[in-house]
Amino acid sequence: MKESQIQKTIIDGLQKRFGAWVHKLDGHIAGTPDLIAAIPTSFFVRKRREPFVFFIEVKQPGKNPSDIQRVRIDELERHGFTVIVADCWDDVLEFVDKVTR
Ligand SMILES: [Mg+2]
Repeated sequence: MKESQIQKTIIDGLQKRFGAWVHKLDGHIAGTPDLIAAIPTSFFVRKRREPFVFFIEVKQPGKNPSDIQRVRIDELERHGFTVIVADCWDDVLEFVDKVTR
């Protein structure tokens, strides 16, 4: 499956399952993660005090982030953001379930 198709299943899944706002980042800065997702607190089982926003680097199965993508992921994480690397919708669903349970 092409990465663009995987991205689409992730975007659709986040919107349908969690009512998420998902934006595809344009890559003006090399290595920027593919997607930013924001899930409304109303969809959480356990109420969170802060909005839940995270970045997603989408890869085809078996592929890893490139060096420049790894640099951007590390930068974002240093600033306290969450970045996940996903190769399918199930990866994202598992992550969201874990942090919201
Ligand atoms: Mg990607």
